[in-house]
Amino acid sequence: MSVSGSPSHIVRTAVTGGADLSWQVDLYKDLHRYPELSGAERETAARIAAELRRYPDWEVTTGIGGYGITAVLRNGEGPTVLYRADFDGLPVAEATGVPYASTHSQLNAEGQQVPTMHACGHDAHTATALGAMTILDAVRSSWSGTVVMVFQPAEELAIGAHGMVTDGLCDVVPRPDVCLDQHVLPGPSGTVYCSPGPMTTSSTTIEITLFGRGAHASMPHRSVDPVVLTAAVVMRLQTIISRELPPGEFGVVTVASIEAGKANNVIPDSAKIALSCRFYSEKWRLRAVEAIKRIVRAEAAAAGCEREPEFRFVGLLAATDNDEGVFEVVRPHFDDHFGEDSRDMDPWTASEDFPVIPTAFGCPYLFWTVGITPRRQWARAEAAGRLDIDIPSNHNPGFLPDLGSLPVTTEAAAVAVLACLGHQWRDGDASDDEWAAADWAGEPAGTAAAPAGSPRH
Ligand SMILES: [Zn+2]
Ligand SMILES: [Zn+2]
Repeated sequence: MSVSGSPSHIVRTAVTGGADLSWQVDLYKDLHRYPELSGAERETAARIAAELRRYPDWEVTTGIGGYGITAVLRNGEGPTVLYRADFDGLPVAEATGVPYASTHSQLNAEGQQVPTMHACGHDAHTATALGAMTILDAVRSSWSGTVVMVFQPAEELAIGAHGMVTDGLCDVVPRPDVCLDQHVLPGPSGTVYCSPGPMTTSSTTIEITLFGRGAHASMPHRSVDPVVLTAAVVMRLQTIISRELPPGEFGVVTVASIEAGKANNVIPDSAKIALSCRFYSEKWRLRAVEAIKRIVRAEAAAAGCEREPEFRFVGLLAATDNDEGVFEVVRPHFDDHFGEDSRDMDPWTASEDFPVIPTAFGCPYLFWTVGITPRRQWARAEAAGRLDIDIPSNHNPGFLPDLGSLPVTTEAAAVAVLACLGHQWRDGDASDDEWAAADWAGEPAGTAAAPAGSPRH
């Protein structure tokens, strides 16, 4: 037996006794005060590395794929469990009004000084992972096996996990039997949501260039006007979800950006649009990508374009699809530990780059979420039917985790890791092959490695 006693009991004993978590709220506030943009998390990574010095038995590696960090505790025979936390902030001006609100700003990739904010709770994820390490470290006589903590940068650009993997993550840490991750989100504070199956969408970002023929604005007959073509494309793309996807099947095709022309008297010779597509089903994602190509090419032909449109696939992410087998190992322990605050999770339309890590190792995974909205605020908004209006979502300037949710995320992480350490994993133990590498067929090879252009939550 790799774990002696129930994970819930072990964690409860640790937090009421041996494990000192008195530093955690202050650390969280420090991280919150100083958010850094994706790929530029120098100070945050340094702070995490400094915190890790308090765990002398964990083997720490820094600088993986930029600012990525791992910490490994080898504690005898048993399963290997990987837990991942992300730590980047967003270019958002904080409006929470708390004393520890961010006043930080930073140069973005375009060279503009922008305000930064932990508007997605990655500060809470980081403080949670360090807290879970403290618990697991304190109770190590109760379990055996190996725990791998991964601190990942640049999640918001969907390039951080990929960066760590291509920089050799799989060689730096032992191969896990299972990978775990959690995310904070609006919901009654301290409610733990966990279900099997698709939980976050795949995200496909496509940049399309349409080539017309430029002319004087007074001589449209001399042009192939890419602005009119773009308008037709944007409208026609709306029929993919409404006319080609079966009713009830989830899908999003958003044209999020249009660029064409710089002057009032010039018909430009080209136009660019950027699309964000979200799907749970890989089958329908591939169908939509085909439909996008078909519509764009046909509209360009209808407009009389002499040059074929160009498609650039950036920021491809697979859906987060929870493994049934891992769910069955962990969920009973969430129920045991959190009682009626352990609930089923509704799929999220956001996307995550976490699955890149388990996919690289070829192992199953589980992703769950925890509500962070003060319960009174949630109840008031719910009673008024105003949840979508009054409760700030992730990436909103008012998004702020209730401090009371921190012990819950911490204990959820520790309980889940212990639950997985207590299970005998065998190759093929996972319920099916859903965790195998996503099939990106139908898209140009190698595009998944291209740097992503925009935040994707
Ligand atoms: Zn986010
Ligand atoms: Zn996030």
